Amino acid sequence: MTGISGLPSQGAEDPHVEDPRVEDHDIAGIAGNPIPHLDGNAAAGPLWELFRIDIIAAIGRCKNCGAVRVFGEAAVYADAPGIVVRCSSCDGVLLRLVETPTSYWLDVSGLSYLQIDREG
Ligand SMILES: [Zn+2]
Repeated sequence: MTGISGLPSQGAEDPHVEDPRVEDHDIAGIAGNPIPHLDGNAAAGPLWELFRIDIIAAIGRCKNCGAVRVFGEAAVYADAPGIVVRCSSCDGVLLRLVETPTSYWLDVSGLSYLQIDREG
């Protein structure tokens, strides 16, 4: 019962039960918005698994356009093989995260820096 034909069947091993927003109907998109995205909160869970930091409140500088924004304002595309986080100012790729059964692949080359609050 799926309208998505191009995706491999990989959902079973994904422990994303805490985030009900990441579901097939979000990924499939709607007419006029073929590549739907979520806000920065969608990247919070996977990045928490890696770093045990609250990435949502972190401030990042886009290497492409120089915009300095709170991570939670970024656009998260979760329908790629992994997660792609784009700048909400210029749409440049800030961060990519792909999980395999044995490792994480994290590309942060689109960020000049991340400023992470030590509190909390
Ligand atoms: Zn930018």
